[in-house]
Amino acid sequence: MVPVAEPLLRVSDLKVWFPARGGRFTGREYVRAVDGVSFDLHRGETLGLVGESGCGKSTTGLALLRLIEPTSGQVCFDGSDLTTLSRGPLRRLRRRVAMVFQDPYASLDPRHPVGHSVAEPLRVHRLHTGAARRPRLAELFELVGLSPDLLVRHPHELSGGQRQRVGIARALAVEPDLVVLDEPIASLDVSVQAQVMNLLRRLQRELGLTYLFIAHDLAAVQQVSDRVAVMYLGRIVEIGPREAVYRTPGHPYTRALLSAVPIPDPPRERARERIVLVGDVPSPVHPPPGCHFHPRCPNRFDPCDTVDPALQPIGPQQAACHLHGVVPLNGGQHRSGP
Ligand code: SF4
Repeated sequence: MVPVAEPLLRVSDLKVWFPARGGRFTGREYVRAVDGVSFDLHRGETLGLVGESGCGKSTTGLALLRLIEPTSGQVCFDGSDLTTLSRGPLRRLRRRVAMVFQDPYASLDPRHPVGHSVAEPLRVHRLHTGAARRPRLAELFELVGLSPDLLVRHPHELSGGQRQRVGIARALAVEPDLVVLDEPIASLDVSVQAQVMNLLRRLQRELGLTYLFIAHDLAAVQQVSDRVAVMYLGRIVEIGPREAVYRTPGHPYTRALLSAVPIPDPPRERARERIVLVGDVPSPVHPPPGCHFHPRCPNRFDPCDTVDPALQPIGPQQAACHLHGVVPLNGGQHRSGP
């Protein structure tokens, strides 16, 4: 029997709740930004995390690095639970997990040359000190397709694509194993998006990187991901191999998202049927009972507004939907989906 490798990252029942503010604040209400997220990520793999803005995907990414403190749950990276580590061990482990942010302009210090920003993680982790630092910075710039001459430029002197390459160079400075890419192409022009996607793929191949690719753009996620997880209202509602999720989506929400993606083939594009979801995304302070998607779901039926579906296997992927199996009703009776 072939032994199954331990995942590089195992996230278990991760929750990030914030105290709610505003008129209805009672002191006991919480925004459930991330509400019980679990997934594994294996070495060299890319997991795409998709969903509408506000679904909790970026908060999940930030919580993995404890840039936002998780409320509960576990984040095991290479066997160590990041959520329980004290400052010193956490700092050492953070060297192996890097993040690339959506807005490279906001993530670079406008007062300093970009080389200064890329050197920051080297300073924090005391790497490539003294005379070794400048060659290392030049090497990083060449790795991401930038001339080392640009090290002395300020962020405003670079294009959006160059700035994002600088952000990627900074993430790679500490030689991480895992890179969390939070909407890395969302702020770029379409032509530059393709270049950055190609760069990310090449770097993964050459450096053996593992990616968590967070995006709302399903076409981009399809290009880079081995597996895909779909989030809705702080939870994963479908997860599985990319081909399975895109060809035979098991959750009505995934189907609706995919129906909105243009098809680069005119006849199929003309025949594409768009599933338009009615209503707004419910409040993460007061999520609906039962399936959280039921107020907007075109397929809802009897138990959907009372029984919360768990993720369950449907072929190669998993989906949290009563359409795919038996649901408990009335204290232990079971009933099949329609
Ligand atoms: Fe729709 Fe019901 Fe499935 Fe939820 S459980 S996605 S409401 S069919």
